[in-house]
Amino acid sequence: METRILDGKAIAAAVRGEIAREAAAFEASAGRKAGLGVVLVGDHPASRSYVTGKEKACAECGLASKELALPGSAGLEEVLAAVASLNGDAAVDGILVQLPLPDPRMERAVIEAIDPDKDVDGFHPVNVGRLVAGLDGPKPCTPAGIVEILRRSGIETAGAEVVVLGRSGIVGRPLSVMLSQKGLDATVTVCHTKTRDVGSHTRRADIVVVAAGRPGTLSADMVREGAAVIDVGVNRIPDASRKSGFRLAGDADFEGLLGKAGAITPVPGGVGPMTITMLLRNTLDAARRRAGI
Ligand code: NAP
Repeated sequence: METRILDGKAIAAAVRGEIAREAAAFEASAGRKAGLGVVLVGDHPASRSYVTGKEKACAECGLASKELALPGSAGLEEVLAAVASLNGDAAVDGILVQLPLPDPRMERAVIEAIDPDKDVDGFHPVNVGRLVAGLDGPKPCTPAGIVEILRRSGIETAGAEVVVLGRSGIVGRPLSVMLSQKGLDATVTVCHTKTRDVGSHTRRADIVVVAAGRPGTLSADMVREGAAVIDVGVNRIPDASRKSGFRLAGDADFEGLLGKAGAITPVPGGVGPMTITMLLRNTLDAARRRAGI
């Protein structure tokens, strides 16, 4: 069987084209650009590069971005003050606090301080509640990106058996809620480290999503012929032949699944490009809701 490679970069480019057109229409009727506010604490290179990538994507799609950079030594009060200033900033429609914070114990309080209507990551408890209740609101970006990949690739979720490996609050859990809701209509099983015989679940799945953060979690013998595999994992594998000293790999055995899976997302170039794209989508949607457009 030929395995279809699901090109997340190409799908993200198509969605960003649509967002750019909608952002221009928003600007024409609101008299201002939709805007993302970013709080970056500390100077961790990975966080810096994620924030730069998000700001660049905003500019490319015609959204404004505003960054509040704080030193790594910033205390909770300072971070909360930065969030409060973005909450009160009329030009800011979406707020993103780049995680992890240097002190991860602050994260809960900081997320809860974001105005839920500007919470474009969808992590605020109000938005988790809206998601579970099936109400309108921002959906966490990585799960929303996965749903978009499935939809735009013509992979039917209605009636499908979907097995999600991983139950984190940012990927596995919200994705399982989204896929089981009316409209997507999948039958969802969530597996984790206490699941007995993960393979017995994945082998009956039409769609397997693996978000475990461990390379090799999904081997070819765990997937039935023709199933679709969505690989969320991003793992750095030491590789002396690369200038960086590492290469990126997902959680699934990509090579082993070629010829067995019906479709698969590569790493890199699969789910990753969709995550930032859905952040732009959430920011524009928040802007329209706030402006009543
Ligand atoms: P996480 O918080 O570490 O959660 C991992 C989950 O996987 C946990 O629920 C864990 O179970 C489960 N798990 C681990 N090994 C398993 C196994 N062998 N079988 C079944 N379940 C297993 O990770 P995360 O934040 O969800 O991220 C997961 C991966 O996705 C990471 O590689 C991350 O870098 C990547 N990611 C990528 C993007 C993107 O945009 N491409 C976005 C977010 C995350 P327990 O709950 O029992 O521990």
